[in-house]
Amino acid sequence: MKSLKVGIIGAGIAGLSCAHQLTLAGHKVVIFDKSHGVGGRMSHRNYEKWGADHGAQYFTAKDPLFAEEVQRWIQAGVASPWLGKIVSYTHGQIVDSDPTKKRYVGVPEMSSPAKYLAKNVVLELSQTITEITKINGYWEVSSKESGVLPHQFDFLICATPPAQAKNLIGKNSQNLQVMCSEVQMQPCWTFLAYLRNPLTLDFDGAFINDHIFSWIARDNTKPERSRYETWVAQANPAWSEEHLDLSHYEVEPLLIEAFQNLTGAECDLYQTHLWRYAKLENESQSNYGLDTQNQLALCGDWLRTSTVEGAWMSGFHLAKVLNRMYS
Ligand SMILES: Cc1cc2nc3c(=O)[nH]c(=O)nc-3n(C[C@H](O)[C@H](O)[C@H](O)COP(=O)(O)OP(=O)(O)OC[C@H]3O[C@@H](n4cnc5c(N)ncnc54)[C@H](O)[C@@H]3O)c2cc1C
Repeated sequence: MKSLKVGIIGAGIAGLSCAHQLTLAGHKVVIFDKSHGVGGRMSHRNYEKWGADHGAQYFTAKDPLFAEEVQRWIQAGVASPWLGKIVSYTHGQIVDSDPTKKRYVGVPEMSSPAKYLAKNVVLELSQTITEITKINGYWEVSSKESGVLPHQFDFLICATPPAQAKNLIGKNSQNLQVMCSEVQMQPCWTFLAYLRNPLTLDFDGAFINDHIFSWIARDNTKPERSRYETWVAQANPAWSEEHLDLSHYEVEPLLIEAFQNLTGAECDLYQTHLWRYAKLENESQSNYGLDTQNQLALCGDWLRTSTVEGAWMSGFHLAKVLNRMYS
């Protein structure tokens, strides 16, 4: 087998799933991420005495391959079922969601499975990749923080949302650039609230159909979380799009008021976060993007479904095809 040196841009669950499979097959992988931690949109925010999952809220496992992976995460102590009561909520009417549906979360926080997958790969964090260049048949990458980085890769993979991948791919691959251009991601304004007094609402998570918020959840009912009453509320895509250009200061009073109207609660502490590329509007059948001639590839949730499962599967399938090609 030819052992490849592979660079991956993006340490979300797609990039890490791909890196894990490539490493198992004997390839040498380096992952770059602009953040100071791994997990991307599977992330958790910690404040002084409270914290919450402010991206992905839970994950499900429909595909048997991902279901097996989730079992491995559970055995490793980095994921666990979430037994919170989930409902749907329309005009004050509450309907229980399917009680047989299994939902999982990372423990002690949503990014834990990503940290687990990152254990055996070389990580270069706080490196915002700004340019990729092919020199003498090898890929080199430059970052905003460090300029040209001292690596040469046989193969380069962009595991970022499509807008960022498109900028990086540039003119290096016409086909991959077209794939990135065809996809629109929806934004999500997210509101995190710490409450001194627990809310008396009879659910732990709710899909809401007629409100600024399309999802709210009591984060502290997830396993191994802090005991403090913490809520996460996500604005619906249309509202988030309409308010995309507002600053945090401008959006805060709107989200505080919406949360109070919905729950009756006064927030003691709160934070807001804008996910500019939160979720895919429609599902994709692509799985991954591959340009063998230029030794470039794409993976990420946006090539499958905007879920933790979709992202993991995209990275997994890309690695499998590369492993087959270079075995
Ligand atoms: C608010 C919200 C709620 C969600 N809720 C759920 C849910 O309940 N259940 C579910 O299954 N899924 C949910 N999702 C979707 C899920 O989080 C994603 O589908 C999945 O985490 C995407 O993983 P990924 O690896 O494809 O991308 P990401 O997690 O976005 O990873 C991409 C990585 O690339 C890095 N990056 C980008 N550009 C550069 C660059 N130039 N240089 C270096 N690094 C770069 C980023 O920092 C990031 O770490 C939610 C997402 C959001 C935002």
